Amino acid sequence: MLFLPLLFAAWLAQASSTPDNQPTEPFRIADNVYYVGSSDIASYLIVTRDGHILIDGGYESTVPLIGANVARLGFAMRDIKILLNTQAHYDHAGGFSKLKALTGGQLMISEADAPIIEAGGKGDFVLTEAKYRFPSVHVDRRLRDGDHVRLGDVVLTARMTPGHTKGCTTWTFDAADRGRSYKVVVLGGLTILEGTKVTGMPAYPTIQSDYERTFEVLKRMPVDIFLGAHAGYYGGQEKARRLRNNPDGPNPFVDPEGFRSFVNSAEKRFRDQLGGGG
Ligand SMILES: [Zn+2]
Repeated sequence: MLFLPLLFAAWLAQASSTPDNQPTEPFRIADNVYYVGSSDIASYLIVTRDGHILIDGGYESTVPLIGANVARLGFAMRDIKILLNTQAHYDHAGGFSKLKALTGGQLMISEADAPIIEAGGKGDFVLTEAKYRFPSVHVDRRLRDGDHVRLGDVVLTARMTPGHTKGCTTWTFDAADRGRSYKVVVLGGLTILEGTKVTGMPAYPTIQSDYERTFEVLKRMPVDIFLGAHAGYYGGQEKARRLRNNPDGPNPFVDPEGFRSFVNSAEKRFRDQLGGGG
């Protein structure tokens, strides 16, 4: 019976072999904020005196990479008390079932994304194919715009920034780095996926007004440290290299201009699709 483990190993290798999901070194962003995700699929560990918070659970196959990175930084998965999400998609929520079992943490999800996560991706307005499903998981707390999540000395605010998913969530909180306090923003995502009609579609009639409001919220949002659901949003790997090469220099993750230009480019793509009648 040699073939079963071999098949399993082949499946595991294949499952984690997409370019966005390669093992990568964890890195520090601020005193108590760390990147523990894969090459592009972000996961953030926020360390508090009463345990830790994890934002985003990756693909199901990202979980061992997150676990390895958390251990590499000297922290324990069982100290993660709260699991948060930016978007109810298989590449950011696929790992929550495993992560909940590993950590015992409470899963807190926006009201609009919670049913999608509890159904393992079923019901998404654009990712309707079976290949986008992921292990379903129970949501312990449902969040509305402006709700706070508290642990130890850290308070996070959930801002609803729908459009990419109906409950797409952008997280804001304060973090210190070398004696200074910074406004951290973890952007939920603004990508208009293929098959999306931003003027409205039967499965998401309010998508245009949701996006309009999201851009207004983001343009008014105070931001120093720019993070997001993918490292590629903010050039995370490149900034981590700069910090590694010059640890006493200015913190490269402080990048309000990068945030503004990312939001402006996304808004332009949205307006282009509106203007093109798409
Ligand atoms: Zn997505």
